[in-house]
Amino acid sequence: MTTLRELDSRYLWHPFTQMAAWAAEEAPIIVAGEGSELIDEGGRRYLDGVSSLWCNVHGHRHPALDSALRAQLGKIAHTTMLGLSNEPAIRLAERLIAVAPAQLTRVFYSDSGSTAVEVALKMAFQYWQQVGAPQRTEFVAFENAYHGDTIGSVSLGGIDRFHQLYRPLLFDAHRVPYPGVRRWPLDRRETLCDDHIAPLRQLLRERAERIAAVVVEPLVQGAAGIITAPDGFLGELRRLCDEHRVLLIVDEVATGFGRTGTLFACEHEAVSPDVLCLAKGISGGYLPLAATLTREAIYEAFLGAHDEFRTFFHGHTYTGNPLACAVGLASLELFESERRLEQVGARIGQLEAWLPRLLELDHVAEVRQRGLMLGIELQLDVPRGTPYPVAERRGHQVVIAARRRGAVIRPLGDTIVLMPPLAIGEAELASLLEITRQSIVEATA
Ligand SMILES: *Cc1c(COP(=O)(O)O)cnc(C)c1O
Repeated sequence: MTTLRELDSRYLWHPFTQMAAWAAEEAPIIVAGEGSELIDEGGRRYLDGVSSLWCNVHGHRHPALDSALRAQLGKIAHTTMLGLSNEPAIRLAERLIAVAPAQLTRVFYSDSGSTAVEVALKMAFQYWQQVGAPQRTEFVAFENAYHGDTIGSVSLGGIDRFHQLYRPLLFDAHRVPYPGVRRWPLDRRETLCDDHIAPLRQLLRERAERIAAVVVEPLVQGAAGIITAPDGFLGELRRLCDEHRVLLIVDEVATGFGRTGTLFACEHEAVSPDVLCLAKGISGGYLPLAATLTREAIYEAFLGAHDEFRTFFHGHTYTGNPLACAVGLASLELFESERRLEQVGARIGQLEAWLPRLLELDHVAEVRQRGLMLGIELQLDVPRGTPYPVAERRGHQVVIAARRRGAVIRPLGDTIVLMPPLAIGEAELASLLEITRQSIVEATA
């Protein structure tokens, strides 16, 4: 009998994966899950240390989510939003607007973080075309930004390893530094200073009338390696964009739905974006779903007679998928019925209290944390700041060591990322942290 592993090697091409080395890695083949655990074909259990790529919220196989999905399945799995509407899409939109930052009034669905950003870009571009400022065609993005893998969102991306090769295919964006600061130890926490914002202020002063929007990952750049911004940065961005009449697009694909301790990261600085991109946690981590939220003034710029062609000509086959929306609605209900944010607050406190144990390790250069997002950067020689040779795949070796100890984690280069389901229990989080520490010790010995 052909094993699943053999079939995987023969037929699959995995994302962000060097396939030449894949088969030898013998990655677990997951057949089930329960709460914060994944179960492989051999029955082994692993803590889901990256919440199945930063999206699981309430745990796997949550009864309320399973039953919401089953109930919807008893009605219809999919119907189109082009020319029709459906109940879960309507009800979820109403709930999203109720919980989203003030002034956001409209929900445009798609199916991944990349498309949520793609939609935001096209929306912002077309908006200015239709309100008499057609010269506003340029975008500002941050160095090391990650907004997804479609061509528009890659154009905004600033991670050379992922994005550089595609430059000839991309549109140009203005790029300004993201003010990454240490937030750990907490008593050394930095706040916003003028240097952090000066490059953007300068750019807007010189070119604002040509700029459509600034696009930002609020509070923390995820895929860059959990790079944390100083307090006050997002609020200052909002103020600058207002001053120059530039739209602010906030990409909360990673930070949304409780990850930083509030439902949306924007709440930390009472910021309301012009456009908000949501995905990952929106369906509780169950199904592909995304939403781009915007303000009424932007929506209204697309209204007109049929033959004016102000329509937003964008949409995907599975836009507003009823199954995904039904589970998204049930997930938002769980935030209340299970007091998810309160419980996340406790886990964040637990995490922060534990972090000093990591800084004691010889090869831990930096620990970066915001909410339930943690990046642990490893270096060969910490005092000298010498990185490990890339070919050694040191981060990957930590992952392998953790797998043997019963946790699934993922590195970004030599930065180990932890981003467990928000519903992870106290003992499970303690265990995940200890496994990570031991695995770092082993892989850097
Ligand atoms: C993951 C991510 C995306 C892309 O989302 P996909 O669903 O993978 O397309 C976009 N922006 C941010 C901030 C992300 O973390």
